[in-house]
Amino acid sequence: MDRQVSNFLLKGGRLLDPAAGRDGLFDVRVRDGVIDAIGTNLPVDGITVIDVEDLLVTPGLIDVHLHLMKGLGAFGADPDIFGVGSGVTTVVDAGSAGHTLLNVFRNYVTKNAKTRVLNYINLSTLGGVTGPGYGILADPRQIDEEKIEKAVEANRDIIVGIKIMATGGALGAQGLKPLERARKLGDSLKLPLLVHVGESWTKDTAPVHVGDVVKYLRPGDIVTHMFTVHPGGLLDGNGKLWPQVRDAKESGVLMDVGHGLHNLNFDVARKVLDQGLHPDGVSTDGHRGNRAGPVYDLPTTMAKLMALGFTLNEVVEMATVNAARLLGRLNQLGSLRIGEPADISVLRVEDREWKAVDSQKGTIPAHQAIAPAYAVRGDTVYEPLAIERP
Ligand SMILES: [Zn+2]
Repeated sequence: MDRQVSNFLLKGGRLLDPAAGRDGLFDVRVRDGVIDAIGTNLPVDGITVIDVEDLLVTPGLIDVHLHLMKGLGAFGADPDIFGVGSGVTTVVDAGSAGHTLLNVFRNYVTKNAKTRVLNYINLSTLGGVTGPGYGILADPRQIDEEKIEKAVEANRDIIVGIKIMATGGALGAQGLKPLERARKLGDSLKLPLLVHVGESWTKDTAPVHVGDVVKYLRPGDIVTHMFTVHPGGLLDGNGKLWPQVRDAKESGVLMDVGHGLHNLNFDVARKVLDQGLHPDGVSTDGHRGNRAGPVYDLPTTMAKLMALGFTLNEVVEMATVNAARLLGRLNQLGSLRIGEPADISVLRVEDREWKAVDSQKGTIPAHQAIAPAYAVRGDTVYEPLAIERP
């Protein structure tokens, strides 16, 4: 049950806040929705104690890629299912809305959610309305720079970048021209580009080469679906990273997991990771069609990365400070600060054997599981939804 509490103490937990260099037993006190003390053995008089012994307390987790236009098509999920209902305080929609739908998104999704909901505006006016298999950038009229600029300027508080589907199916006869236009728009609006690579939906068109896509990207832009097994991915036919991808990453282009129904493949992930290319963001690419598996939620996706060899500290760093950096929100998100509104995740990390399942139903053994225990935003403490998790 969600509960509003004016003064409370998260007591006895392990606080892990990589950005602040904190890892240890610290209590966190919240008064009127604001963090007012972090320390050891804080006094408990006259305050509601929330016992978090044996639990992990982190800055609010951030899921940087989902589809949250609730009710739209087969994908639009309720942001609070992947958000506070899964121990996550910030969720980011990746391109459900083009400029025409942005007001609807703002007024019916962001405003109604208990979770903070940010947005990558779609380069295409059609956004996610038609579903991913359509040529949403294949006609030059489907990009309207002027209207995108207007929509962005009116919604800077929620907009974190521009989403582009760089697939053969989406680009169609326009080829790479939409990427050129996106580049100009990103530069003039000072927004990063979030580029989908991987051709899971459009098998009847020639795949776009990732080496051609990254030519248009600059430091701070993001490639999502870094572990896709589908054509258009990061590896060549011999399982080697395309050199252009390595160069892009070295120049400061960021890489996001974007698990989803199709794009987390453990074999590909091992090859990419073995060649030294690590994720900057961990995300579910969550939507209505993958919530009940294989994706489940962000904590589960983090645990899958642990099964691939990352430490708990590393995956928490990805989902907090690194995600905040990727979103250009380092001064607001990703770390606990005294005097700031409470934005906290509480997780249950368990040593237990389970089988992590990827998008192609491949499995690897996992030795630790992560489940949500609470999400805190301001003066409200949310308990996770009782929904299926592995
Ligand atoms: Zn997606």
